[in-house]
Formats: sequence, structure tokens, C-alpha cells
Amino acid sequence: MADQVPSVTISSSDRMPIATSRVPALIVHGGAGADPTDAPDELRRGIRDALAAGWARLRDGGTSLDAVEAAVRVLEDQPRFNAGRGSVLTSVGTVETDASIMEGDRLTNGAVAAVSGVANPISLARRILEDGRHSLFVGPGAIERARALGVPLCDPAMLVTERRSRQLDALSLGTVGAVAIDRAGTIAAGTSTGGTAGKLPGRVGDSALIGCGTYADSTAAGVSCTGDGEAIIRVALARRTLEILKSAGDPDHAVEVALATLVEDGRGDGGLIVVDWKGRVAWGHTTPFMPVGFRSASREFVADPDAAT
Ligand code: ASP
Repeated sequence: MADQVPSVTISSSDRMPIATSRVPALIVHGGAGADPTDAPDELRRGIRDALAAGWARLRDGGTSLDAVEAAVRVLEDQPRFNAGRGSVLTSVGTVETDASIMEGDRLTNGAVAAVSGVANPISLARRILEDGRHSLFVGPGAIERARALGVPLCDPAMLVTERRSRQLDALSLGTVGAVAIDRAGTIAAGTSTGGTAGKLPGRVGDSALIGCGTYADSTAAGVSCTGDGEAIIRVALARRTLEILKSAGDPDHAVEVALATLVEDGRGDGGLIVVDWKGRVAWGHTTPFMPVGFRSASREFVADPDAAT
């Protein structure tokens, strides 16, 4: 793929003006590799429900972190998406999840990797952020943190769905993520995933890594990425997108250049969502489809899977 000219789909709220500074905005994605022909109604409903949950927090004066956590939790709970219950399986048939969350005022962050037995890893990441001592916990250490921080545990087998058991060999991508800005102008971003199907146990992807799958800086933007994790890690895509945005000032342009970097230097495919400090949203993907939706005071948009087929 990397030796082809990348075909990049970029969209933004510029063509559908929504926001100025300090006006809340929320954007969510359901993975750059989502198959638009597989249960498209579930994709649409998932994105809509995630927007509704996140927007309710922002509308009621909640923080962007609250909105991001709420939106991602909805997608983790919906088995159609590759996060929480319904995550893709490792090569030995288990679920191991990665998640990260970041707040852009103080650059605080929390993350978990290779965790089995937590239905909502984004909430564990959030508690780790709030606890503040360390940024990233893996495996049994993350489970121990969940116990200590009051995040519910579940039987790891509960996260394995029949659909994913059938798909053991398929390389299916479908991470979830959200980025929001609240009334105070604070930007937050979060990402959650089961990783790549058939991955080796212990493999950690970009979604757990601040700067790669997730980044937020309230002076610039928040970013959540999806796609080939190893490629995203190579170019530190989330942070890279922010740097491009800082120098160019235009979220559309930042998405376009960042995705070209992912394809050419990272040698992989993917997508990302952005909210900048002005409340402008943008997204793009080098794959055929990425479920995405955004919400502001004046607009709601949900990408149509049927339009991609
Ligand atoms: N980026 C995720 C990972 O490599 C997969 C995805 O976005 O679907 O773990």
C-alpha cells in the first residue's frame, strides 16, 4: 500500500460551518477499517448513541473529558465495534484491550494496554489520569489498578463475542475514539481498541500510546487515530497531526498531510479525527470507510455507511 499514491478522504466542518471559539463540539469515530456492508445500521446507531451520550455531558456543562469518556463507553459497550465487548481476538482467542485518554490543559493522561477483563478500558484510563501518579499500566498491573480505583472487572470470556470468534483470521480494524472541546475551551481526546485481529498476546498498539493514537493540547487541538497501529507508532501520528496543525493553522490541511505521512513514512493505512481550539472538526481516512459523526450546538452529522458501498 505504501508504494501507491495514497487516496485520502478528508472532510471537515469548514464546508458545514459549525463553531467558533469556546463553543462545545464533539467528534467520534468507529475505526478506519470498519466494513460498511456489515450491519450498517449498527454502525450508524453506535455513532449516534455515542454522540448523544457525549453531547449530553457537554450540553449540561460537563467537561470534554466527561464527554469523551461517555462517548467511548457507548462504543465499547456496542459489540459491533472493536473495543470493550466485541473486541477482535488475539491469535490464541482472547481479548486484550488498549485505551488512552488525555486532557489538553495540563496535558494529563492515562492509559492501559493488553488488559483482559475490563469492559470499559477508557474508564480505567480516565481513573489513572485522575490518580495522576503514573500514565500507563499493562496486563495484571492494570487489573490491580482497576481494583484499587474502583473500576468494575468482568470475566474476560464475557468480552468474547461469537462474531469475533468467527473472524479470528480476518484482519479487521475498528477501533473507537472521541475528541471534544468544552465551554471552558478544554480539549480532551480518547481512544479504545481490541487491537488488530490475530495479534500476538502482549502486543500493544498505538491506541494505548499517548502521542501515537491519542493526543490533546488545548492550545492547538485533540486527535484520536485508528488504523495500522505499527504504522501509526512509526510516525507518532496524533502528535504529528498537532504539529502540522500548529504550523499550518488549518485542520483540513493537517489531516491531509498527517495521513500522507502515515502512508508514505509509516507504510500503513488509517484515519483520524480532530477538534481544534476554535471548535473546528476535521477527519480523514486512507481506507474506504470510517464511521464518524460530529455534534455541535447547531449541527449533527453521521457518516452514511451505504454511501461508501
Ligand atoms: N490502531 C489499532 C491498533 O493497531 C487498530 C485499529 O485502529 O483498528 O491496535
